[in-house]
Amino acid sequence: MRERNTLARVGNNGEVPGINEAAIEEAGDDHIFTGHDTPMRPDAFDLTDSEKIKKIEYHFREIMETLGLDLQDDSLDGTPLRVAKMYVNETFSGLDPAAKPSITLFENSYKYGQMLVEKDITLFSNCEHHFVPFYGRAHIAYISDGKIIGLSKLNRIVQYFSKRPQVQERLTMQIGSELQQILGTKDIAVVIYARHLCVCARGIKDTRSSTVTSFYGGRFLMEETKNEFLNYLNL
Ligand SMILES: [Zn+2]
Repeated sequence: MRERNTLARVGNNGEVPGINEAAIEEAGDDHIFTGHDTPMRPDAFDLTDSEKIKKIEYHFREIMETLGLDLQDDSLDGTPLRVAKMYVNETFSGLDPAAKPSITLFENSYKYGQMLVEKDITLFSNCEHHFVPFYGRAHIAYISDGKIIGLSKLNRIVQYFSKRPQVQERLTMQIGSELQQILGTKDIAVVIYARHLCVCARGIKDTRSSTVTSFYGGRFLMEETKNEFLNYLNL
């Protein structure tokens, strides 16, 4: 993993370190990420949602005006507010721990001891390096250790962690370790296939490539169990 400070260019004679733009571009295109937890500041929730919307509206208007757009135009004048509301209430709502879905577990009264696989969970997220969408499908499997989870809750957990500026690897790990915690078992697998608009529509402009990431815990680290799971994905 690359050290964070390789992005800074330190001057020879103690001048304020500048930012190396080429290194920033490269780190973005390489989709470098720094850890399991979404990097958040301690004061992340000092502002209310409506204060955040007002502030983002102001700054998004600045961006549009800087680009030379005429905000008096009827088609554009509502865009800063729309974007601000979308960011706070939808696209990035999963930054707020209060938005985490509440999960009720059930006893595994049927004593179902095989893996349960939920395939093709639709996923929309946003790349934290470019703030453009990546989207695809998540596949989840678990082997119950006495508790079972409602199927729709698996979708909700995927949605919750997707609604953040993300890196696909971190998203996969966050979903996997959250399920391990909720279900009280290591036996969790998560595979995500996604297309990144920052790869398809800009930069290298590869419209066909997709990215696959995986998380395997407990018995899914065993070749046989992992292969059983992967075979279900091909059904
Ligand atoms: Zn990106």
